[in-house]
Amino acid sequence: MHIVVCMKQVPDSAQIRVHPVTNTIMRQGVPTIINPYDLFALEEALRVRDRHGGEITVVTMGPPSAEDSLRKTLSFGIDRAVLLTDRRFAGADTLATTYALATAIRKIGATWGPPDIVFTGKQTIDGDTAQVGPGVAKRLGFLQLTYVAKLANIDLLARTVEVERRSEGGVQVLRSKLPCLITMLEATNEIRRGSLAEALAAARATITKWSADDAGIEDITQCGLKGSPTIVKKIFSPKPRAQKATLIEAGDQPAESLIKEIFKRQPKLEGDLASLAQ
Ligand SMILES: Cc1cc2nc3c(=O)[nH]c(=O)nc-3n(C[C@H](O)[C@H](O)[C@H](O)COP(=O)(O)OP(=O)(O)OC[C@H]3O[C@@H](n4cnc5c(N)ncnc54)[C@H](O)[C@@H]3O)c2cc1C
Repeated sequence: MHIVVCMKQVPDSAQIRVHPVTNTIMRQGVPTIINPYDLFALEEALRVRDRHGGEITVVTMGPPSAEDSLRKTLSFGIDRAVLLTDRRFAGADTLATTYALATAIRKIGATWGPPDIVFTGKQTIDGDTAQVGPGVAKRLGFLQLTYVAKLANIDLLARTVEVERRSEGGVQVLRSKLPCLITMLEATNEIRRGSLAEALAAARATITKWSADDAGIEDITQCGLKGSPTIVKKIFSPKPRAQKATLIEAGDQPAESLIKEIFKRQPKLEGDLASLAQ
C-alpha cells in the first residue's frame, strides 16, 4: 500500500484578524496549524498502514514555512514528507492548486510507487471550498469518495475499499475500486500521539522540497495567480443589524413566551393565523 495524504498549513482561525480598511485576512503574525480535517485524514491513513502495512507520504503545497507542519506530520510516524514550494505557486485558486498537487502526486507515484489511496480533508478552514479533493481526483483519473466518516474495510486481493459516507439523513456504505481519493470528515477519529523516538526523528528528518520543475510541472501558466481564473471582487463583513436583540424572560414555557412576544410585535399575524385555522 502506498497512501498519499494532502495536508495544508492554515492560519489558526481562532486567531485570525480582518484588516479594518481592506477587509482582507491579515495572515502576518497569525500562528499556523495543520488544517484540522487533514489530521483526521492522516490518522485514517495511519490506521490503514497499521492494518495492511505500506507507506505514507504527506504532501503540501505552500510557502517554505509549511515545513513546520510537515515536520509535525513526520512526528506522527509517516514515512516521508514532500513540500511543494515555489514562488510561482503563489496566489493559486483551487484550479491551479489541483493542477500542481495532481502533478506532484504523479511524481510521488513515479518516485516511491503509485498511490493506492490519496486522502484529503473534506475542506480547509481558510479557503473552505472543499474543491481540492474532487479536483485532484478528477485530474488523476481516480474514483472519489467524499464526506467519508470511516474507512471500514480494504480488500487488497480484490483491490477494493469500503467506506462509510455521512450523508443527509443517514450513512451510506460505499465500495470502490482502488486507486481512489477519499475526502475525510471531521471528528471521525482522533490523531494519535507520536512516540518520543518519532518526534526526535522528525526533528532531524529530511523533507523533500520540490520546485515546480522538480515536481514535473510542464505548463507553469496553469500554476499560481497566472493559472487562477477566480477573481475576488469584494470581501466584506456583513454590517451589524441596527436592531438590538431582546432577551425574553421565558420562564418554564419558552415556546409560549416566544409566540406571545411575536404576536405582541406583529399583531396582524395572530389574526391572520386564526382566520387560516377556521
Ligand atoms: C475566491 C477565492 C480566491 C482566493 N484567492 C486567494 C489568493 O489570492 N491567495 C491565496 O493564497 N489564496 C487564495 N484563495 C485560497 C486558495 O484558493 C486556496 O488556498 C487553495 O486553492 C485551496 O483551496 P481551499 O483552501 O478551499 O481547499 P479545500 O478544497 O477546502 O481543501 C480540501 C483539502 O484539500 C487539501 N488541500 C487544499 N489545499 C492544499 C495545499 N495547498 N496543499 C496540500 N493539500 C491541500 C487538504 O487536504 C484539504 O483538507 C482563494 C480562494 C477563493 C475561493
